[in-house]
Amino acid sequence: MTRLWDAHMHTSFSGDCQTPPEDMILKAKELNLPGITFTDHLDWDYKEEPGLFDLDLDAYRNRIQKLQQQYTSENFQILWGIELGLQPHLAPRHRKLLESYPFDFVIGSSHVVHSVDPYYPSYFEDRAWKDSYREYYCSILENIQSFDDFDSYGHLDYVFRYGPEGSAKDTYTDYADLVDTILKELIRHDKALEINTGAYRCGMTKPNPSQKIIKRYYDLGGRLITIGADAHKTEHVGLNFPMVGQLLYNIGFREYYVYKKRQPAAFPLTD
Ligand SMILES: [Zn+2]
Ligand SMILES: [Zn+2]
Repeated sequence: MTRLWDAHMHTSFSGDCQTPPEDMILKAKELNLPGITFTDHLDWDYKEEPGLFDLDLDAYRNRIQKLQQQYTSENFQILWGIELGLQPHLAPRHRKLLESYPFDFVIGSSHVVHSVDPYYPSYFEDRAWKDSYREYYCSILENIQSFDDFDSYGHLDYVFRYGPEGSAKDTYTDYADLVDTILKELIRHDKALEINTGAYRCGMTKPNPSQKIIKRYYDLGGRLITIGADAHKTEHVGLNFPMVGQLLYNIGFREYYVYKKRQPAAFPLTD
């Protein structure tokens, strides 16, 4: 198994991360990764803790540019991206932002469901938990239909980390109608599906999305995938990549993608 590029990681520029970007770089080099893409959080209008996920874009850009000059080599590259917390009403603001900053890579993610962060247990209270999950998938569909200027959809099904039933949950079967619609929308608009291994650090036994959903994406014709560990600490850089690389290979994927200047470049997946 070749070493895989980690295209989702955070630094101290994110409101929930203390790790300096240099530390992430040194860890990735130690792991012999071919490259990394920084994707710090920007979640405007985050009602749970207003301002927590604002991002100092100019400072972030300047810092990563300096690190690129310092650490880029023939065997190691650093790209500059962002993880946007999508909400339908933010679409015009996000479009404007992306006109102003030349990111290599944009992850679109859902961190709130109709303004509520499902990280907090109250999201699941006072209703059947399947209804909570259905609402989550519905809101993703709304996000995708109102905004398509992202490259890869981040950690689809990650809300299952927080709900009842632990990692035994089937994140596809009961929601197949909604998930299929989401996957078809992504494919139709040439958007990648992100394979996020961050779930493993939360005690889960599957990536986000789960194997069932990844396979469904493949069967529907989806071939654009990106891979990221969503590390907020150095010990999670490239987490479980060999296992996930094998899982993807077994499904049928022979390539994964790294976005540079918003264009996908294919990298091989081997047995
Ligand atoms: Zn995220
Ligand atoms: Zn993230």
